[in-house]
Amino acid sequence: MELGFSAADGAFRDEVRSFLDEKLTPELRATGKRMTSVYADYDTTMAWHKALYEQGWVAPAWPVEYGGCDWSVIQHYIFSSELAAAGAPSLSPMGLGMCGPVLIGYGTPEQKAFYLPRILSGEDFWCQGYSEPGSGSDLASLQMSAVPDGDDFVCNGQKIWTTHANYANRIFNLVRTSKEDIPQRGITFILIDMATPGVKVEPLVMLSGEHIQNQIFFTDVRVPKRNVVGKVGDGWTVAKYLMQFERGGHAYAPGLHTRLDRIARMARQEGGNGGGRLIDDANFAAKLAETSVEITSLEYTEHRIMSALSHGEAPGAESSLLKTRGTEISQRVTELALEAVAYYALPFQPHATAPGGPVPGAPAVTPNETPVGPDYSWPVTAKYLNDRAGSIYAGTNEIQRNIMAKAVLGL
Ligand SMILES: Cc1cc2nc3c(=O)[nH]c(=O)nc-3n(C[C@H](O)[C@H](O)[C@H](O)COP(=O)(O)OP(=O)(O)OC[C@H]3O[C@@H](n4cnc5c(N)ncnc54)[C@H](O)[C@@H]3O)c2cc1C
Repeated sequence: MELGFSAADGAFRDEVRSFLDEKLTPELRATGKRMTSVYADYDTTMAWHKALYEQGWVAPAWPVEYGGCDWSVIQHYIFSSELAAAGAPSLSPMGLGMCGPVLIGYGTPEQKAFYLPRILSGEDFWCQGYSEPGSGSDLASLQMSAVPDGDDFVCNGQKIWTTHANYANRIFNLVRTSKEDIPQRGITFILIDMATPGVKVEPLVMLSGEHIQNQIFFTDVRVPKRNVVGKVGDGWTVAKYLMQFERGGHAYAPGLHTRLDRIARMARQEGGNGGGRLIDDANFAAKLAETSVEITSLEYTEHRIMSALSHGEAPGAESSLLKTRGTEISQRVTELALEAVAYYALPFQPHATAPGGPVPGAPAVTPNETPVGPDYSWPVTAKYLNDRAGSIYAGTNEIQRNIMAKAVLGL
């Protein structure tokens, strides 16, 4: 069996590498390396977004007719792996990876023509309005109301945990348009301009000290009826379709391989284990090897899912498997990283900033760099703390296991 790349794939990899050499500046690489969550900061994200957009590579998994790339599964894999290995910051997934695919699947021709080019160019930055204070796992219980009034809906209610709402100019929202049937049937998927009067965003600062999440209050917000995606009252179908992309629309393995390689490099340095090399500790070496095997097996599952995506299809309920394994292995990698840097993990400092200055009450802002050599310039503690959220966001891993039991295993 030949497991190497074909000549054409090798040429594609070289093309990606030369693009990265030219466009992925040292500043972008440094920010990618300092990322503590799945998101880079807004300015870096958009600078990198622009470079990929100009190259035509910002949404490779979209169907070609809407701006995607006609790549094979292997090319998608090469692209993700090369970006991860080079330390590229990730792009915001809410437009490219969630709202875009939903509009392609359920949008009207007018909605596609208006929104898709703006997602590609970065002109629109989206956030996701699903969760509410009383509705997380039991999302169908959501209460934010939308009452018809002429050509508009008038929306009232609250959303919470809204990632990057502090930057977004648009939100895709689930609202309740009826209470008459089972809860799932009265939900509508609607697009809201964040500049509409009555929308108020407030920060939620995380344990790591960062400001990424928000809560949003909607008071008599008028939203045109033409902004409904799918049918009024059928938003649950649209919402579930979107969640397949949210959970399984991207590859976890390339980034995990890169992070584990970095830990292995640190473990091979002298002085990391009471004076010796941590890699010589058989227990630690076994944990590294075990995690590497787990990442590789996840990678093969991702290839199967990427196969669906590269044909413009939704990833299916198996996306729950990717989300669960991807986030659990990621948490494992953060634990190994803490072990590898040992007491150098302590001087982590969060970058608790918000537009207009530091968030009131947040810890002081100091650089993430510690003064002990390049491999330790990794904010391992902030990453460790932030990654605890991986088994909660996009639907908790307990809920993913329920979905796998029902929709994948048929139990
Ligand atoms: C970092 C972060 C970013 C987020 N970003 C967004 C965003 O941008 N937009 C958005 O809309 N939401 C976002 N969320 C919200 C996220 O989707 C919810 O936190 C998640 O769905 C869980 O809901 P909950 O927090 O209300 O917990 P709950 O639903 O109250 O769950 C509490 C615990 O009970 C368990 N549980 C609940 N029901 C069951 C069950 N039936 N079977 C087994 N166990 C169960 C859960 O697994 C969990 O452990 C984000 C959350 C985090 C942490």
